[in-house]
Formats: sequence, C-alpha cells, structure tokens
Amino acid sequence: MTTPNTDNAAAAGKPSRVLVLNSGSSSVKYQLLDMDDRSRLASGLVERIGEETSRLVHTPPAGGGGPRERAGRIADHDEALRAAAEELAADGLGLDSPGLAAIGHRVVHGGLRFTAPTVITDDVLKEIERLVPVAPLHNPANITGIRTARALRPDLPQVAVFDTAFHTTMPEYAARYAIDVETADAHRIRRYGFHGTSHAYVSRKAAELLGKEPADVNVIVLHLGNGASASAVAGGRCVETSMGLTPLEGLVMGTRSGDIDPAVTFHLKRVAGMSADEIDVLLNKKSGLVGLCGDNDMREIRRRVDEGDERAALAFDIYVHRLKKYIGAYSAVLGRVDAVVFTAGVGENSAPVREAAIAGLEELGLAVDADLNAVRSGVPRLISPDYARVAVAVVPTDEELEIANQTFALVDN
Ligand code: AMP
Repeated sequence: MTTPNTDNAAAAGKPSRVLVLNSGSSSVKYQLLDMDDRSRLASGLVERIGEETSRLVHTPPAGGGGPRERAGRIADHDEALRAAAEELAADGLGLDSPGLAAIGHRVVHGGLRFTAPTVITDDVLKEIERLVPVAPLHNPANITGIRTARALRPDLPQVAVFDTAFHTTMPEYAARYAIDVETADAHRIRRYGFHGTSHAYVSRKAAELLGKEPADVNVIVLHLGNGASASAVAGGRCVETSMGLTPLEGLVMGTRSGDIDPAVTFHLKRVAGMSADEIDVLLNKKSGLVGLCGDNDMREIRRRVDEGDERAALAFDIYVHRLKKYIGAYSAVLGRVDAVVFTAGVGENSAPVREAAIAGLEELGLAVDADLNAVRSGVPRLISPDYARVAVAVVPTDEELEIANQTFALVDN
C-alpha cells in the first residue's frame, strides 16, 4: 500500500488538517480534512459499539487502496477512537502527526451559552455535561468522544461545534413555548433547534447559488434526512426552526412523530398505561414513517407507493402535508422568500418528495420544473422554472466540512 504524501503542510510548518468527530450513542463517524484545499483525506465509521457485531470501515486517501474493514467487538468509544486512530496512522495520518491542527467535535446541545464554536476547556466540558438533562440521548456520547480525543492528544486544540448554535439568533417569541415562564426557566425548557450546522452551511451555499450575499437573501431550508427539520433564515440569521427542546418537534421524520398534541402523551400514560420511557421510545423510535408504514427509507416507501401500497401512500402523503404546512408557515414568517432549499438524504435524492411538497404552492411563487427535478447530481442546483418568483434549489449538505471550517477558523492564527 502506498502512503500518500500528505505532510506538505506540516513540512511548510503550518498544520492544516482537521479531524472531525461525530460521536453518536453507539457509533463514531470521523473525517480528516485538509483545510488548504478543503479536500477529504480519509474517513470512517465505527458502528454498533458495545455489541459483538461492531464494525469499523475506514476509507483511506486516494491512492491508498479500497476501504478497510475490522469486524468484532469494540467495547466502547475509547476503543473505537483508538481503532480509528490506528487506521489513520496506517495511512501516515496518525493523531500524532504534526500536520494535524485541531479536532472538531459535533456536539448536539449547546444550550443558550454556546452561540458559536468553542475551544474545549475543562470548564466548557463541564457546561456541556450540565446540558445532559436537556439532551440525554445525544450529549453523553459527544462528551465521551471529547474525553477520549483529549486523552489521546491533550496538547491539541479541540473545538466543539454545536448543532444548536445557528438557532440561537431566533427571536424570543419564536424560541419560547407558551407555558408558565417560571416552570420553563427552571428546567431550561425552550425551543433550541438542531441540525444547525447543516442549516448554516446550506443557507450560505444557497445564497452563493443565487449569486448573492447571505445577508441579502431569505431562505427556507428543508433538511430532510432520517431526522428532518426546517428553518427560516433571514439575511443569514435563523429566525425560526422546526425542532424544539429536543429533535422530536416539527416535521415527520424516519422514526420520529414530529408535531403532536402534547395531550397524546398524558393519554398514553393514563389510558394505555405506558411509562414516560415507553412513550419516549414510541415517539422517537417507532413513529414517523416507520410507525406509519413500517419503513423509514424513502426509496422503499416510493417503491411501495408505485406498487399501489396504501399504507405507504398514506405515510408519504402525511410526510408531504407536514412539509407543505411548514413551507407556508415559514413563508409567512419571512414575508419575502428568495429560495426554498432541499437538502440531506431525502431532500437531495427524492424527486417525488420535492415535487409533491411544492405542488399547489404557485400562489406563494413556487414551482418545480419536472426535468430539472429529475436530474441526479451532487452539486447545488436550481430545480424551479425561470418564471417562478421564488427559486427552488437542491443543495447537498456537508456537516463535516462545515465543522472543519468552523474549527479551523478558530485555531488558525
Ligand atoms: P440522512 O439522514 O441525511 O443520511 O438521510 C437518510 C435517508 O435518506 C434515508 O433513510 C432515506 O430515506 C433517504 N434517502 C437516501 N438516498 C435516497 C434516495 N436515493 N432516494 C430517496 N431517499 C433517499
């Protein structure tokens, strides 16, 4: 195997690589980027951490051969990160290499304190821990990833990039729930929003696609992955987003219900005898598309719809109906809309979802050109006809690149 010559930057004396870590509850995703040209040097995924069937798949740099795989139990995040570090080292890109400038960590919840990427200190880590009660499913894994990476490279700057940060510009009237203020404040209950790194990146790229500055455009971003959220971005600042205290609120998602009457939860407790944990699992893991039709993959749902499957067709219609409601609501919030932008797995790939979500919204200045919509491409593009008053666009998201950009901007001096 050839070891690529990737230490040019180090030779020139200026570290220019950033390792991005996204630590989930049972997985770690990593990417090493060269910030000189924003290229991806290597990447990998460790999944099913803690199970007998753990797996690491590492993609080495171009010229370094095909993906390498390790199978067999990886006990915890510490072992996962060490295994990833070994794979990188085998490519000559180890964590101890002088070209590494920083490690950027995705952190899901930054509460109200973290409105921007932040260099991780003991104090910052403590604050992220203090936020665990509002993000019990996400922050603990992020914290484990940070601790392990800091143990491996205590001298290296490590940066937390928060999913919530982009949404901290929401006005108070959008961020507050209409519940008793004292109770809300005592338990930090408010709308924080998530997927902020993606909404920030995609809204900026959409402005670029329109040939304008972010400050001069109003856009609605529809991040439709397995998790899904919408945001209204006015002049580069988020003014409204669909996720709330947790990622459960808003759009119909792969396995989450999105918006629901909160009384459904009391009903499930009182009438169905379910516990809080059982309701949590029902709404987060067994609802949304999977709850409605048994599948959460939009490809499979469309295949079933095309075969005349009624449950899949109803699930699709509910998904699209919710999207339309948000497009309408956010058009009202923004007043003037320059673009509606689709991103993430479903948004980037599902022409039927884009077509159905925009259908009938001509009064809002929205239309989709069938031919443009059918094009499969990995680059930002317009799918609206020339006559449409509001652009409709597809912009592939790149959360890792955005985390690397924000991390590098903070440490490159
Ligand atoms: P993400 O969370 O952004 O990785 O998105 C994952 C989801 O994207 C999957 O669950 C699928 O529903 C959807 N997806 C991925 N590829 C396609 C495709 N070619 N067509 C339709 N949906 C897709």
